[in-house]
Amino acid sequence: MSNRIIKTGEKPGAGCYSCTNCHTKVCLDSKDKMPPCPKCTNNEFTKE
Ligand SMILES: [Zn+2]
Repeated sequence: MSNRIIKTGEKPGAGCYSCTNCHTKVCLDSKDKMPPCPKCTNNEFTKE
């Protein structure tokens, strides 16, 4: 289990990520870049 922070613009791979600020989930494909949080525009996420 990793608590690595994933930032906007990274390509962390397929999976769901949780905003460190508001805990909104963002699910990405393997080729997707992490967007800013759609709810609070935070730029840091952790892997679900
Ligand atoms: Zn957020």
